[in-house]
Amino acid sequence: MKEVQKPKKPLIYYYGIVLLILVLFNLLAMPWLAQRQVRQVDYGTFLEMAENQELGQVEVQQQDNQILFTNKDNTVIYKTGMMPDPDLTQRLADSGAVFSGEIIQQTNPILSFLLSWVLPIAFFIAIGQFMSRKMMERAGGPNALSFGKSNAKVYVTSSQGIKFSDVAGEDEAKENLSEIVNYLHDPGKYREIGAAMPKGILLVGPPGTGKTMLAKAVAGEAGVPFFSMSGSEFVEMFVGMGASKVRDLFKQAKEKAPCIVFIDEIDAIGQKRDGRLSSNDEREQTLNQLLTEMDGFEDNTGVIILAATNRPESLDPALTRPGRFDRRVPVELPDLKGREEILKVHAKKIKLEDGVDFGKVARMASGASGAELANIINEAALRAVRDGRNRVSQADLEESIEVVIAGYQKKNAILTDQEKKIVAYHEVGHALVAALQNHSAPVQKITIVPRTSGALGYTMQVEEGNHYLLSKEELENKIATLTGGRAAEELVFHSVSTGASNDIEQATKLARSMITRYGMSPDFDMVALETVTNQYLGGDVSLACSAQTQTEIDRQVVELVKRQHEKASAILRENRDKLDEIARYLYEKETITGEEFMEILNR
Ligand code: ADP
Ligand code: ZN
Repeated sequence: MKEVQKPKKPLIYYYGIVLLILVLFNLLAMPWLAQRQVRQVDYGTFLEMAENQELGQVEVQQQDNQILFTNKDNTVIYKTGMMPDPDLTQRLADSGAVFSGEIIQQTNPILSFLLSWVLPIAFFIAIGQFMSRKMMERAGGPNALSFGKSNAKVYVTSSQGIKFSDVAGEDEAKENLSEIVNYLHDPGKYREIGAAMPKGILLVGPPGTGKTMLAKAVAGEAGVPFFSMSGSEFVEMFVGMGASKVRDLFKQAKEKAPCIVFIDEIDAIGQKRDGRLSSNDEREQTLNQLLTEMDGFEDNTGVIILAATNRPESLDPALTRPGRFDRRVPVELPDLKGREEILKVHAKKIKLEDGVDFGKVARMASGASGAELANIINEAALRAVRDGRNRVSQADLEESIEVVIAGYQKKNAILTDQEKKIVAYHEVGHALVAALQNHSAPVQKITIVPRTSGALGYTMQVEEGNHYLLSKEELENKIATLTGGRAAEELVFHSVSTGASNDIEQATKLARSMITRYGMSPDFDMVALETVTNQYLGGDVSLACSAQTQTEIDRQVVELVKRQHEKASAILRENRDKLDEIARYLYEKETITGEEFMEILNR
């Protein structure tokens, strides 16, 4: 595999440059330096020294027409030009000088070769080796063969490790996982009775609900090392690397057992192998290696693999069969109580004013994930700092919900008067329809301050408590509420605007689900016409019916939405005075609370 050596390339350049410098140095600088050591003198000096018997060695270079000679101690080399001097030989014999042929190469040639070539090269190679080791270490492995080694992050247990108490809500998941903690504390108890702990546990849920946190908390509670790696990290550029990473990860884990191995985004490697042409060879090899490793180690070795995904339906069935990831722990979006607890956990890190009502904040932030709630707390703290306060207030928290959900207030977005009026009527239209249908939740807040997300205003509806079931009437009312904005525009301005595009989308989606998935159309009875393929990420659906049925579905969706739209229009027409009154109030104030709204409505 040639590619594996690729990272050595910089070193090859390095050696090349070193060699070049050496050659140049030896060719140019050395002779020049040698030259410098030779002292040029005139012939008179030579004669004088010869007379005074001060010569050491002498070399007559006929072809260069020069004489090289040294002093008695051979410490200085002199050079002089040749003069036509017939007495030269006699003179030299008298001076007692030694005739020599190699004054310049006085130094041992082997030694000089060693000094000018071998030693520098050895020196530079040593530096090169050192550098290469450094580079490899930085790349994550101890030596040049470190490719395919897992660079799993190892979190050795520390006193500040995450505990179950740091993960708020998610009680079911925690209960489920506490068995693993027990097992890691005392595997013997399980071995004795012959019970095998599941090797793999799949944490399933939408993003930001605390799956990674839960995995860390299991390790933290059990006091064992925690290896973490993301599925996408396995899939490398080079075929075969992912598989060897898996091998290495498990080798490390077995050495450190008992321990937790956490694989995030396992769907990146564990997708169904469907034999499509586009299938990824590398991914398949990695998955096969993972399966082999999971089968390879005995029950009760103390290695527990936790994996997280938000696309459980896309996982290969081989991965979820018994003996592998056979236990599934749902980690859902927090409910009202869960949201309140999560807010409280994160609020411990910030300074709060007295009397902050987390229950109200949790109610306003319906549908928010744990990560979003953590973000809300942080945004509130940032807002307090921005305003020069040193404590976070209730208003900070409420405003930051809107920031997290709809983006920041757009300070410089200036709506024309007419636009502002339309937005006010639109939002009050939603709110009025919602409030006047007795099944709908009351509004919490209406605002027509534009947001960076593009919303020109919105109505914050609040459910009191949790709803797990929605009746057909409730769904219909929701659709009516969604059409309420457009209905108000039509009623007041006799024209329509683009402001309702999001409402239209949502209303259509709801109506469609009622007919194709919830069996709420009399014609289709309890037949599933659509299946959800991606429930935690947006909920894509795929149709499962004939073309004729599709046509019929479309017709019924249109009819359903139309009926609700008419209902909303009727409600608003009957309450036109309230619509005008509240819209005017909103137009002036830009933001009104649920209480103000209900007060005007019930006046
Ligand atoms: P996931 O792995 O499900 O995408 P994470 O575990 O990475 O989500 O959570 C992201 C962040 O969200 C955490 O660091 C934490 O601050 C916050 N968070 C999510 N769920 C919770 C929870 N149940 N309790 C406390 N904090 C939570
Ligand atoms: Zn709207």
